[in-house]
Amino acid sequence: METIKDIARLREKIREVKKKGLSIGFVPTMGYLHEGHLSLMKTAKKENDFMVISIFVNPLQFGAGEDFEEYPRDLARDEMLARSVGCDLIFSPSVKEMYPSGYGTFVEVKKLTEGLCGASRPGHFLGVTTVVTKLFNLVSPDRVYFGQKDAQQAFVLKKMVRDLNMDLEFIVLPTIREADGLAMSSRNKYLTPEQRKQAGVLYKSLKHARELIVEGERNVEVIKQAMANLISEAGMAEIEYIEIVDKENLKPLLTVNGECLIALAVKFGQTRLIDNIILEV
Ligand code: AMP
Repeated sequence: METIKDIARLREKIREVKKKGLSIGFVPTMGYLHEGHLSLMKTAKKENDFMVISIFVNPLQFGAGEDFEEYPRDLARDEMLARSVGCDLIFSPSVKEMYPSGYGTFVEVKKLTEGLCGASRPGHFLGVTTVVTKLFNLVSPDRVYFGQKDAQQAFVLKKMVRDLNMDLEFIVLPTIREADGLAMSSRNKYLTPEQRKQAGVLYKSLKHARELIVEGERNVEVIKQAMANLISEAGMAEIEYIEIVDKENLKPLLTVNGECLIALAVKFGQTRLIDNIILEV
């Protein structure tokens, strides 16, 4: 396994791999790897000849006052974990390497980026689509792997790939959870022990919504209120949004029918956590 920091060396290596006719599976990450990342990497390894990950905390997708500076970074630990699942190449560029002075090109997906996290984090998805486009251009993957955990991100990127005719297969894999249901996230590290204990309520509220729907409840407001009540029992939780949206266009629903996405963002202190489930009615 090789860790590459500069674009020239990456291009050289990718050309070698392509020349050998090997298929490339790619997992973009911001590092501080956990089992969620590793599950994507294991699948990428199984389905491709050569597995590449990127580790890049992308400043473009963080808003003012967000946690770009504090975001956990530990390349040595990540290298060890990546090696353990058969990673062939880590691309870990500096900010200057990705955005040299005078950088001025951006990729924007409209509409799908307006609601949910897009509403509370203006500019976030512009940063995501721009950096992922650059990474796809650099790595030339045959298949790319993303987590359901960031459901809106996966929808937005899938749309970008389709709209811009990117020649790759886009694969979304299930959310990996802790024993109490909390979705794994590099940001869980920020939680105090008490916040961590309370954070299990997020998945509990999603499961409660599923139960209500299975029992026949169709009114979105009623379901959202029941989720909010449950989450509020955790005294440290501050709800940013709870939404039930159409699975195709991510528009808010009034009644549940067909496939829907139930998504939430909740803050524990400064730590913003997201989670979701997809339901078919
Ligand atoms: P990040 O490093 O947080 O940008 O995540 C990199 C990739 O890992 C994204 O495709 C995420 O959706 C995915 N991911 C993050 N957490 C999880 C999780 N708990 N289960 C599955 N995939 C995840």
